[in-house]
Formats: sequence, C-alpha cells, structure tokens
Amino acid sequence: MAEHESLEFGKADFVLLDNVSLEEFMANLKHRFEKGRIYTYIGEVVVSVNPYRAMNIYGRDTIEQYKGRELYERPPHLFAIADAAYKAMKRRNKDTCIVISGESGAGKTEASKYIMQYIAAITNPNQRAEVERVKNMLLKSNCVLEAFGNAKTNRNDNSSRFGKYMDINFDFKGDPIGGHINNYLLEKSRVIFQQEGERSFHSFYQVSVHFKAVADAMKVIGFTGDEIQTVYKILATILHLGNLTFGVDGDITLIENSKVVSVIGDLLSTKEDNVEKALLYRTVATGRDVIDKQHTVQEASYGRDALAKAMYERLFCWIVGRINDIIEVKNYDARVHGKNTVIGVLDIYGFEIFQNNSFEQFCINYCNEKLQQLFIQLVLKQEQEEYQREGIPWKHIDYFNNQIIVDLVEQQHKGIFSVLDEACMNVGKVTDEVFLQGLNGKLAKHAHYTSRKLSPTDKSLEFDRDFRIKHYAGDVVYSVVGFIDKNKDTLFQDFKRLLYNSSNPVLKGMWPEGKLSITEVTKRPLTAATLFKNSMISLVENLACKEPYYVRCIKPNDVKSPLLFEQERCRHQVEYLGLLENVRVRRAGFAYRQTYPRFLQRYKMISEFTWPNHDLPSDKDAVRRLLQGCGFDHDVAYGKTKVFIRTPRTLFSLEEQRAEMV
Ligand code: ADP
Ligand code: MG
Repeated sequence: MAEHESLEFGKADFVLLDNVSLEEFMANLKHRFEKGRIYTYIGEVVVSVNPYRAMNIYGRDTIEQYKGRELYERPPHLFAIADAAYKAMKRRNKDTCIVISGESGAGKTEASKYIMQYIAAITNPNQRAEVERVKNMLLKSNCVLEAFGNAKTNRNDNSSRFGKYMDINFDFKGDPIGGHINNYLLEKSRVIFQQEGERSFHSFYQVSVHFKAVADAMKVIGFTGDEIQTVYKILATILHLGNLTFGVDGDITLIENSKVVSVIGDLLSTKEDNVEKALLYRTVATGRDVIDKQHTVQEASYGRDALAKAMYERLFCWIVGRINDIIEVKNYDARVHGKNTVIGVLDIYGFEIFQNNSFEQFCINYCNEKLQQLFIQLVLKQEQEEYQREGIPWKHIDYFNNQIIVDLVEQQHKGIFSVLDEACMNVGKVTDEVFLQGLNGKLAKHAHYTSRKLSPTDKSLEFDRDFRIKHYAGDVVYSVVGFIDKNKDTLFQDFKRLLYNSSNPVLKGMWPEGKLSITEVTKRPLTAATLFKNSMISLVENLACKEPYYVRCIKPNDVKSPLLFEQERCRHQVEYLGLLENVRVRRAGFAYRQTYPRFLQRYKMISEFTWPNHDLPSDKDAVRRLLQGCGFDHDVAYGKTKVFIRTPRTLFSLEEQRAEMV
C-alpha cells in the first residue's frame, strides 16, 4: 500500500478495495480524481485520469522524492513506475518496457513525456557531455515527431495520429546512450480529408506560420539544410495537390488548373510534363506491349489523393528513419562496457469505437487485442514466476483469455486479415461485398463474429455491409466499405517512377522502388493489413522479452474540463481496459507482498516480539511470529524473501493497529 497518504484520498491501490465491484472501483476513482489524486495503483499498474489542468507534481522536488524509492513508499505516480523500470534495468540488468494505453485524449503522450523527463532527470549524474547530447536529441526528436505526426482532432488538440514505440539504450552505468523509434500506422487519410472541426497534421500549418521552429529542431537533431528544404517542398507539393482538379473535354481527361502542375514540377525538381503525365495516364503492360492508358476523372482524382497520402506517409517514415540514424547507439563495445540495456516506452492508440468504424478502427482494435493478450500473459506469468521464485504454490486464476479474438483476426487462411487479402487478390471485380461474403462463409460459426446476413434481426447491425466483432473490450460494428481499397493501398507505379526520377537526391532517395519500370514490377506489394499484422507481431515479440510496466490512462470527460468526472464515460473505459479483471487477478493470488525487512520496518511496533528489535534467528521468523500473534497466520504465505498476504483486510487491520501505535 502506498504510504504517506491518508485515507482521506481513498485507496491508493485498487487491490485494497473492500469489495472488488465496479461500483466501488468507480467510487474510489472518482473520489481520488476530485481530491486531485490522478494516479492510483493496481499492484504495479498505474491508473491515470487526465486532470486537464496543470498539476504541480512533476517538478524537481517531486523527482527527488521518487528517485531510488520503492514503488509503495510514495503516493502513486508515473515517476514511481519510471523509477521501478529503471531500477529493474539497472540492478538486474533486465530490459524493461512501459506500455501506455488509453483512448485518444486520455493522456498517454503527456505521460510518455513525463516518463522520459524523469529518466532524463535521474541519469547522468556526472554530466557527461555525450550523454547530455543524447538526452537532448531524444527529447528534441519528440518535438519533430509531434509536428509531423500529430493533429488537432475533436478529441484532442494535440492528438498523435500514429503509434510510437521508443527504445532508450543505456550503458552499464545506467546512462542513456541512444535510442530507436518504431512508428505504426500513420493516419495518412487525414492529409486529404478531415472531419468537421478537425485539422490536418500540424506540419501543414507550420509551413505557412512557423516552419522555422520545426526546421530549427530538425537542424539541432542533425538534418541537413537540403533535407529540411526537401521536407518543406514535399509539404508544399501536397498542399498544391489538394487544389488540383480534373475535367473532361470530349473523351480526354485534363487538368483544369495547369498552373498548379508547373508549381509542383518545380517543387519536385522534375519536368512539368512528367507530372502531368503521371497524373493523367497509367502505364500498363499488355502481353508484350507497354501502353499509356488514360485515367477517367475518377481514377485521376483517386491517383492524386493516393499520391498525396503516400508522399506524406513516406516523408514521415523517412523522418523517423533519419532520427534513428542519428540517435542510434554508436561506438558501444559490449565487450568493454558490458551489456547495453533498454527501456522501451510504448504510446499507442487505445481501443476505438466510433459512430462509423472502418479499416483503421479494425486495425487499432486488433492492436489492442494483441496488447491485452500480452498483458494477460505477462501479468499472469509475472505472478507465476514470482511465486515460483519465492517457493509458493501457484493457484490457477480464471480470466477471459482473448486469444480467440486475436486468432479471429490474424490466423492464417481463416482469419479476417487472410480473408481480406484473398479478396484483394481476386482478379476481376473486387468489391467490399465480396470480402464480406468471404467472411460470412468462413466465420459463420465463430462466437465472436456476426453480420447482418447472419443475424438479420439484430438491431445493432443496421446495414447490409456491417459486421460485428465481440472484442474483449466490447462489441464493435464495422462497415466493410473501403476495406478493399485501404488494404490494397495502391499507388500507381507511375508516381513512384516520377518521384524516383526527381533530380532532388533527397526526394529520389525516399522512393527507391520507383527504379523499376512497369515490366519489371512483378511482386505485388504487401497489403496494408499484412504490413500492420507483421508490425504488431514483431512489436509484441519485442515487448514480451522485456519486463513490462503499465500505465492505463482514462479520459474523464469530452469537454477537456478539470472538474468533470463523467461517470458513464469513465465506467466504460474501466471496463474495456479490463481494470477490474486486473484487480481480481492481482487479488486472486496475494494482494500484497513485501520483503521481510521492509515489512518489519513498517509493522514491528504492533508486536511485543518485534518491538523495538527482535531476537529471532531471522527477519522471516520475526514476521511469522508477528503475524501469528495477530491471528493472521492462515492468510499469509512465507516466501524465500517476501511475505505474501492474501486478503487486503489483513493489511487494513495491520495498518489500523499501526496507526494506533504511532
Ligand atoms: P493522448 O496521447 O492519450 O491522446 P495527450 O497525452 O495528448 O492524450 O493528452 C491530451 C491533453 O490532455 C493534453 O494536451 C493536456 O492538455 C491534457 N493532459 C494530459 N495529461 C495531463 C497531465 N498529466 N497534466 C495536465 N494535463 C494533461
Ligand atoms: Mg497521443
């Protein structure tokens, strides 16, 4: 139990609730939020509620309070988790990771920044210049990534539109020496379309207002002048593409505002004619011949939008790649310096249920299924391992295992992604309906899948093109409209060639596959679903070999108010984050555990056998004696180094007795 906090603020750890019910959980969460206690534990998991106001809890003095302390010695805080991850890494030479989840606007990115700041603040006591440089780079790279990957949405003024996993590498002294960033599924459709009230990526507005700030940050990180110029030109090109319209003259498709084409030609360092041709024609191979086939207006518009999206996505990935080149660990010789260890920080989109859910939500929710699966495995595994280490028998815990849903999505041949890829490979007319038929055929009997066709009387399935997945976090209805297109994610080879043939070497370098002519393009590019699936599988593999720490973020209201705790909204999040289940798992075993010396330190005053000192052979014996004396012996297990207490009530009672003594 977190110390130094009175009960006035509610329970600092949900494990200590009298009853694990949703009502009690919510009451405690709300109470703490209203008292300005935004963090609460479930064991070693931090539950965080976005305060929507500046909190005076991240300063130097707070950092000092958490530095080197044990998790339970201070009120719950992100810093305690960051410190625990750091300590585990340093003391036990273990790679660790901090997984931050929650819906948009819940406070994930802010949390990840506080964690980074904490780590930066507690490392490099000797002020080594090289380490300071690395720290500065890591923090600065955030600013660049936010400019290109974040946007104002209706939920969050600074919403990350990509998933981010960042490794920080440490040397044997525990000082940061480099890092690596992985990015996931940028929401590139935002480049061509935004919901009412939303905006495109910040970078586009900075082009006209203060690109200088971003450019300066890029320069500090180490981007060259030419590179920054090219970035600027790409952004400008995309903006101009947005103004480009097509029309017809007889049976000829043409560009209505040809002035724009010449501007784009200049920006891309290529001939105006080449730009025009790539926009209006497609080179196709028919048997032995290669011909130029004219686009319809619709095809040309599709191509233009695909080009804008692809250029932005490629730009973003290229920026991440360049940052990685710069921040990656260099000149580290493990034979001399010992193993270099890692703390990973994952800031990734939470579960999404919108009015209209499409391919993007499907991918995001699949990602959350994967992370939930990992959470189940690791939390249970961790518990199991600790019991084994301590020599305590393991008792089976019942919980919902969502592996069945993960399989539903990703399994070879039968999974939804496979069915989608198959539909995309069909020759002839490929439609979203064909995909849906495929799903209905293969998954009719699956307990977590249904569709309008299979359940015609189900009211939640409003349209013929709807299907529904029973996710661990709740039911989500998806519309298949657009799945095929988004999965194929076609960018005509003509555009790739256009960009590759630019005389700007930076731009050319971003499009190596443009080297191929149409007759040389043999392989189908991997689909968006396959790419995403592969990236998720490797993400999970990467996390699975690290010791995980979790931050679960909750968004208290939709109006960014520091005062409002919307009960329904929060309850829903608590449910789909599986927090109650988390508490149960934690309690099903032992709610509380502590090393013998620390336990004595806290409770020795309640027993005559241990106060002020004991004369028993070991601290373990002393703890046993103390607990027997209180009549709690039946509720505890004695491990090799720790005492395990099964029910929270025992702990309350100890706390009460202690309070009477001190
Ligand atoms: P997410 O990444 O989960 O979408 P953010 O981390 O961007 O959400 O947070 C959204 C907004 O909420 C921030 O811009 C900030 O205004 C506010 N916020 C989040 N966490 C905190 C915090 N710990 N203290 C103060 N304000 C916060
Ligand atoms: Mg974010």
